[in-house]
Amino acid sequence: MNKKRKISILGSTGSIGTQALEVIEKLQDKFEIIALAGGNNIELLKQQALKFRPKYICANEKIEINGISSLTGSEGLEDICSNRENDIILVAVSGKIGLKPTLKAIDCGIDIALANKETLVMAGDIVMKKAKEAGVNIIPVDSEHCAIHQCIKNISQVEKLIITASGGPFLHKTIEDMKNATVTQALAHPRWNMGRKITVDSATLMNKGLEIIEAHHLFNMPYEKIDVVVHPQSIVHSAIEYKDGSVIAQIGLPSMHIPIQYAITYPERFEGIKSKSFSFSEIARLDFEKPDFDKFPSLNLAYEAGKTGGSATVCLNAANEEAVFAFLNDQIRLYDIYQITEKMMEKHNVVKTPDIDEIFEIDSEIRTKTREIIKG
Ligand code: MG
Repeated sequence: MNKKRKISILGSTGSIGTQALEVIEKLQDKFEIIALAGGNNIELLKQQALKFRPKYICANEKIEINGISSLTGSEGLEDICSNRENDIILVAVSGKIGLKPTLKAIDCGIDIALANKETLVMAGDIVMKKAKEAGVNIIPVDSEHCAIHQCIKNISQVEKLIITASGGPFLHKTIEDMKNATVTQALAHPRWNMGRKITVDSATLMNKGLEIIEAHHLFNMPYEKIDVVVHPQSIVHSAIEYKDGSVIAQIGLPSMHIPIQYAITYPERFEGIKSKSFSFSEIARLDFEKPDFDKFPSLNLAYEAGKTGGSATVCLNAANEEAVFAFLNDQIRLYDIYQITEKMMEKHNVVKTPDIDEIFEIDSEIRTKTREIIKG
């Protein structure tokens, strides 16, 4: 990159956002930060703003810092995304709040480094169609999709995608153990350090389910051609099989710095934060096994929702998220997350091609109904 790449980060105070700033600090001659958006964590956002001096900051409340314009709320996020100064926007907010700003950025022809799953799970058809029409790159930050993005040269030659899953903390526990799991046990992820909602999703494998849907949209691949394999060491981040039987996998130490850096510097590569050189002999062994669909029914729910299409994935996402919040609040047990989500999916009248407003309506309708079921 000869001239500095102008970047904004939505969700700069979260797990992906803070690591992205570590990457940018290391590559400071490559980037200029236009805006940082941080939601509720005002103190951290202030520190980041003082350190990185963006032109704009955005939070849930106004922040006074000399020389930096303060924006607020989701309107602020959309303002950032319609600022054509940006070369790329890292969308790392969690939840549905990422969707509308992402669409704004696409409309303005700004490339997206996408770390927000909901954008594709809720509105993948709309988002990918718009991006294609606008000639906008959507580069995935999610480690599995980033891996696949790195493996693919020509999508039309690809036979299938193979998404790896660490298996989470319950991989070798019984269904009974899972039924009695506490919040602390569910949050004890063996490989990745992430936010609470996504960590519970990793324990139930719903995170993998959502990733199947993401992969379908990102790579325009039918669900029949997306496989999941459990790989506890999280060294193989995912793979693709070409039509001629050749398999290409992306391998590396489990660090989110690498996919974040890949996405924001694409198509170039720099040394950046790489902690140490990769050694096959130090890794010594890699294990793979079939996922247990009985123990982790989320995978089936996700395949089903994905194949049904339309608003089915909106329902899946909203019901699951509400159930996860209830679990984190000790209102329900871990296994209830599946049962509640499944119940909501059964009752849902699928809208085939919902527009963005309908997607948001359906989302809040499902959330309200899910909370009612939880209350009992
Ligand atoms: Mg992932």
